[in-house]
Order: sequence, then structure tokens, then C-alpha cells
Amino acid sequence: MGTNSKYSLSNGNTYPLIGVPWGMHYWTPQTGKNGDGWQYSYTADKIVGLKQTHQPSPWMNDYGQFSIMPVNGLKFTEEKRASWFSHKAEVASPYYYNVYLADAGVTAELTPTERAALMRFTYPKSDSTFIVVDAYNKGSYIKIIPEQQKIIGYSSKNSGGVAPGFKNYFVIYFDKAFTVSKTWRANVLVSDSLEISADHAGAIVGFKTNNKEQINVRVASSFISFEQAEINLQKELATKNFETIKTASKNAWNKELSKIKVEGGSLDQRRTFYSCLYRTLQFPQKHYEITADNNVVHYSPYNGKVLPGYLYAGTGFWDTFRALYPFLNLLYPSINIEMQQGLINAYKEGGWLPEWSSPGYRNVMIGNNSASVVADAYIKGLRGYDIDVLYEALKHGAGNEGPLDAVGRRGVEYYNSLGYVPYDVKINENAARTLEYAYDDFCIAQLAKKLGKPQTEIDLYSTRSFNYRKLFDNESKLMRGKNKDGSFQSPFNPFKWGDAFTEGNSWHYSWSVFQDIEGLKNLMGGNAAFVNMLDSVFKMEPIFDDSYYGSTIHEIREMQIMNMGQYAHGNQPIQHMPYLYNYAGQPWKSQYWIREVMNKLYQPTPDGYCGDEDNGQTSAWYVFSALGFYPVTPASNQYVLGTPLFNKATLYLDNGKQIVINAPNNSNDKRYVHSLFFNGKNHNQNWLNHFDLMKGAVLNYQMSATPNIKRGTTKTAYPFSLSNQ
Ligand code: CA
Repeated sequence: MGTNSKYSLSNGNTYPLIGVPWGMHYWTPQTGKNGDGWQYSYTADKIVGLKQTHQPSPWMNDYGQFSIMPVNGLKFTEEKRASWFSHKAEVASPYYYNVYLADAGVTAELTPTERAALMRFTYPKSDSTFIVVDAYNKGSYIKIIPEQQKIIGYSSKNSGGVAPGFKNYFVIYFDKAFTVSKTWRANVLVSDSLEISADHAGAIVGFKTNNKEQINVRVASSFISFEQAEINLQKELATKNFETIKTASKNAWNKELSKIKVEGGSLDQRRTFYSCLYRTLQFPQKHYEITADNNVVHYSPYNGKVLPGYLYAGTGFWDTFRALYPFLNLLYPSINIEMQQGLINAYKEGGWLPEWSSPGYRNVMIGNNSASVVADAYIKGLRGYDIDVLYEALKHGAGNEGPLDAVGRRGVEYYNSLGYVPYDVKINENAARTLEYAYDDFCIAQLAKKLGKPQTEIDLYSTRSFNYRKLFDNESKLMRGKNKDGSFQSPFNPFKWGDAFTEGNSWHYSWSVFQDIEGLKNLMGGNAAFVNMLDSVFKMEPIFDDSYYGSTIHEIREMQIMNMGQYAHGNQPIQHMPYLYNYAGQPWKSQYWIREVMNKLYQPTPDGYCGDEDNGQTSAWYVFSALGFYPVTPASNQYVLGTPLFNKATLYLDNGKQIVINAPNNSNDKRYVHSLFFNGKNHNQNWLNHFDLMKGAVLNYQMSATPNIKRGTTKTAYPFSLSNQ
């Protein structure tokens, strides 16, 4: 799902990710050129290698990657070793990959563990079969040790976000002796040495094979050392056979995927649901390793040292604060406790919380949304880590510009003195920054309250939570960039993407007041005016001004082609917006549009997403929405109601309790909530309380073909907003 994507149009920008949940290394068949972010394209004809990858998205690209490829003949360059393949002769599952590499006549199989993988190549009869190892360019090393049937090496390729000296050390064992051993450098075979360091180093080893003869390849790697790579291999593969590893890897997925059981719906809806759930369990990746003495250690991309404790890498909080992290807090809290410990380490080692880690600080996107990730976890009850250090880290990030634009707060002095980042002071995407800082301040204030911090601190951040008001333009009823002198930006085109906003226009970003939808509603003119504004998003023509970018970026194209007006579900800023009718007495319109988005914009197909999936965020939207609720305001205790998709869903919580969601008469024709009973009591609110759910709960829905225009219409039904506190 999502693999049929390209630079100009993203249908997900995913790749077939073969690994175990949150594993340190993933694997994918590589169809693109070395270094191309589009490492797998569904429409490609040829595979050039089975690639170890840590790539969160094509836009971030990869690090530490290398690949292994069976071939027929002494062919090692990308072009010559590439083999035709067919999806009809390919099995792609989370825990197992199988493809027939036609030009080599080899069936290649792969099954992974957290830090290793087992490959099995079934060869034809030949005295000229080979396996190529490609350690990529930008500084790599290879050593062939024929007497041990072993190749070691490292890849230091990266896309930034690492300390000097970064390497991914790999060890590869073969269960058959080599008849030929050669290293290669770029396009040239090296005849005189089994050990080379080069910009682009590789190995090719040969075998004589009988018909259907299988060669097993055991591979593990480490960001720490060759010794640790050997330990990773011993711990995870040892001498276990292919079927044993495959079964264990399948079980690892089923353990996590079975935390939600859905019943009813169509086969396509169930496939979409579990495909989305699979995508929520991948990033950020474990970036730590286990020593021989069973201690947790990690290579720090922040300072280059090997240090004790957890670390995770590969997520952009701008995307994932919205639904992915709240989803972990509901169903997978223990993994997020490790992630929070990793954030503490990142702060200690690099001086800042990362906003986009891959694996260390990357300079993309905006905001200071680590505040949401940290606050939501603690407020939702996660414990077992030093929250005071994280609170200090949040204050540090909120109060300072970082060494990169994308850590700390760019324009913080303006924000703190004026209450907004001005449009005319050469800080781009200033209105988006202001809106996100104000929400982030709300998160810090909520955490400060929970931790009993001094009232002056609580007040400071609480007051700043209302800074969104500074950018509200009464004339357009939208958020608008504001100059240093207090005048609004002019000219102002609410359909202009970027500029004052980030990968969206004012119609997308004006809803980014997660903490106070009631306050936003009142600025827009109350219930009727607010609903009219929401309706307008879906009704307007999908016109756009792309002059800020100079071309039509893919996110714009994805909005333009969906026939949903200005609604741009393919990118994150507006994804919570369909839920906002709940704050204005017309929850049935939320129900209508949420079901519409689920039905239309998600399919269990290679073009099944409507834009970048983005490391679990766009998938978590679907998973939450299919369950019937969504965290519009992380760092509050509430989920806002939508419309459940299935006849029944059961959530198995970490604490042993269950949430059962029954909607027995649910169907595509009955998308509206007629009534909801929560633990047997009529539930008239348009929200659910997190802690009520965590006690175990039964939700009984009566669905209907027509809206119940009496349910959820009064102010007492509205979800959390700061202005109502
Ligand atoms: Ca995005």
C-alpha cells in the first residue's frame, strides 16, 4: 500500500518494508538507483539488490545502507546485476519477502530480525553463480575472508544527521565456500586485494551450484562496531534456520497487530486497516543495541559516542505529534516509554530535543512539536523515565533558537515579545510557526500543571497558548501573516501555499488551534459561521498559488486531483479538520466527511494513500478514525468522536483491559451515529475520556442512514477547548 509513488505525485511514498516492529534495520527490494530516495517503485521492472534501509521517507533519504544481490555471471555494477522481476512472482509481507530474479534464475527470500536478517537464495545448476555485496559510495569498506565464508564491511553513506565517523558495520556469513572472491571499486574489479577502502566498495563471491541448491546468507549490522555486529548476529540469528526466523518474525508482527481485532466491514476495509496498522509500528526505529552482557547501548548520532541507554531514530514530530504518538500512548505505551528515554538521551547528547531525527537532527519542517510528544505521553500516564529532564528540555527548546532552524524555536525573540513571528523579518513560514508555537506552549503548560511546576511558569505558557489570536484576520476570517508593526501581510491570497504557512495555505492552517477550537470558532463568528467555514473547505474549487515554491509541489497536486475542494488530506496540517464540526453542534457533518475520507482516500493498493504516509501519521489517522475517534488535542485527555467503520472492534490494552466498540448495524449506507452507549450509559458528548477508556470500556453504537440532528448539539457535548476551561 503506497508503493506506487514518484517525485511528482505521492500515493504514500512507502516501500515494502520487511522487518520486525520498530526494528533497527529494515530491508527492501531496491528498484531505484543507489542513492535515489525512491528506492522501490511498484511500476519498476528490475531489482538491483536486497537493501538494508533506515529510510523514513524518500525526502529524508537513507543512511548506513548496503545491499546484497544474487547474480548469474561476474556482474556487479547496478546496471549489469539488475534483474527483471514480476509482482506475480513476488511475495511481499512484513516478515518475509520472496521474489524470482529472472535474469539470475534465482528465487531470493529474506526474513528479518531487529538487527539482522537471513536470506535464502535458490539457484539453478551453474558453475557461474555469484553474490554481490554493495557497500554504497561516500566512503565504504569491504573485506572478504574466504576461509570463514564471510564478508565484513561498512557503509558510511548518510543524508546528514550523523556525527563525523558515522558507520554501519556489517558482517555476512555464507553457508557455502566461495570458488571466486573479488572486491570491486565503483565500476572496476579489483584483482589483487580482498580488502579495500574506497569511495564505493563492494564484493563479489562465486559458487558452483546444483539445480535448486540453496545458499543461506546470515547478515547483521551495527552502528557501533564489527564486534557488536557479530553480537547482534549471535543474539538474533545464531544457527537458527530460515523457517524458525520466519515464524518468529511473523509472530512478532502478529503480537502487535493483534492488539486490535476488527470484525465486519469489507475485505478491502480490513486489509486497509491492518496495512495502516502495520505502518504505525515502524517508525521511529530502535537505534540501540544489546551488548554481550545484555546492556542497552547506542551509537549517538548527536556526539558520535557509544553510550548507555535507549535511542530511537526516524520520525518528524511535525507529522507524528498529531495522531501517531497519541496512538502509541493508547495501545503501545511501553514502546513509547523507551522512546521518551531516548529523547532524554538525545537532549543530553545533542543539547536539544530533535524535531526531525534521521538519525540525528535534520533541518526540515517547523515548529517545536516535541512539546506535544513529551506532554501527551506523560499526561496519558506513561511513567518510568525522568520527566523533569524532559520538562527542562522543553523549556530550553521553547526559549531559544537552535543551531538549526528545525530545533528550538526560530524567531523566538519576536514570538516572546510580540506574540507572533512577523511576516516581514525574513523568517519563512512565520504564521505556521506562530500557530504551532502557541499549541506547543499549551502542551508545556499542561505538563507544567501536571508536574506541579511554579504557577508563574504555568501562567507564562498558558497565556502564550492564546497567541493564535494575534494572527486572526477579521476580514478574511482566516489566519494571516502579520508584519512587525502589527499590520497584516498584504497582498494576502488564502490559496497561496507556503510563504507564511508550511506546505499548506491559510485555509489549511487556520484550523491549527488544536488547543482552543472554541476560541477559534468565536473568532470566526460562532457556530453557524464556523460551520460555514468548515463546509467551504470541501466546497471551494481546488485552486492554488504555488509561486512560493516555483512549481506545483506534490502536496498541492494531491489536493487538486481528489475532487474534495480545498481539503488536502495528503498533508498533515488539515487532517484533524473534519472532526471540528463536533465543536459547533453538527457532529453528523464530521461523521459524513470522516467516512468519506476513509472510503475514498485509503485503499489496500499500491496507490492506496492520498499523499505521503509519513511515518505512521496518515495511517494512524485511519486507524483512529476506523475505531471512531481521534486525538484532535494531544496533551488533553480527550478523543473526539467520528464514526466507527467496523461492526466490532476490540482493543487489547497493555494494562490487560479491553475496549470493545460495537456497531452491529454499521454499513456504508449507515455512517451516522444515532446513539452511543458508554458502559451502558447514554453518552451524549462528542468526545471520550482517555482514562475512562483505559479502565476498559464497552461502546455500543446505533448507526443510521440519516443524521441524528439532536445528538451532540449542545455546548456540554463539545470537546475540550481552552476557552471552555
Ligand atoms: Ca507530509
